[in-house]
Amino acid sequence: MIQASELYRLQEIDLNVQQRHKRLDEINAQLADNKALTEAQQQVTNDQQALAPLQSKVRKLEQEIQSNIAKLRETDEMLYSGKVKNPKELQDMQNEIQSLKKRNQELEDVLLETMIAVDASSATLKDSTTKFETISAQFELANQNLIDEKKRVKAEGSALLKSREQLVPTIDSDTLKIYNGMRARKNNHAVAVLVDQSCSVCHVQQDMIVIQAVRKGDSLAYCSSCGRIIIPRTS
Ligand SMILES: [Zn+2]
Repeated sequence: MIQASELYRLQEIDLNVQQRHKRLDEINAQLADNKALTEAQQQVTNDQQALAPLQSKVRKLEQEIQSNIAKLRETDEMLYSGKVKNPKELQDMQNEIQSLKKRNQELEDVLLETMIAVDASSATLKDSTTKFETISAQFELANQNLIDEKKRVKAEGSALLKSREQLVPTIDSDTLKIYNGMRARKNNHAVAVLVDQSCSVCHVQQDMIVIQAVRKGDSLAYCSSCGRIIIPRTS
């Protein structure tokens, strides 16, 4: 007797395993695809790199201004201390004071411009950081769903393989060989069912010889059109 219901169950298991594999591939591809997140992260890095030199320029300008102020004070004190009598030296000191004041005025102008640029650049960085955090949170949420699904699909897959392991030894080895050999060629549907005298896969009506062979069930019968193993309806 051929083991029609076992064969049919085996095919069901194999189709389900295949479906889980396909879904796992899809999930893994989705998990690897984080283009939006990578781009948002890159934007934050770019904005940080634009801001940093402006901030360091502000610090340098402030330092230079402070050092000029100190020099000014020193020269001023010296000038009015009465210690220097030489008119040429006194003139040089007055010139230096004028030039330090002029230089600091220029530096203050540049400092103001730079601070405005820092403000604009900080605002840009704040925007891109907010955007990154939003995308990151969305991605994590989406990932969590996918990771949960992946776990579930894997568990279903191994449960199916376990029941396959239990089923296979109950099927005659020659029948198994034919089934396995036919799977790849028949798009994983090696087994068809006789439904109202027709093949359930190709829907071609079978002649009486095939129908009788299926009903007798002494040996494997094949669809006269698509060549699949054809079994009686089991339930
Ligand atoms: Zn057929």
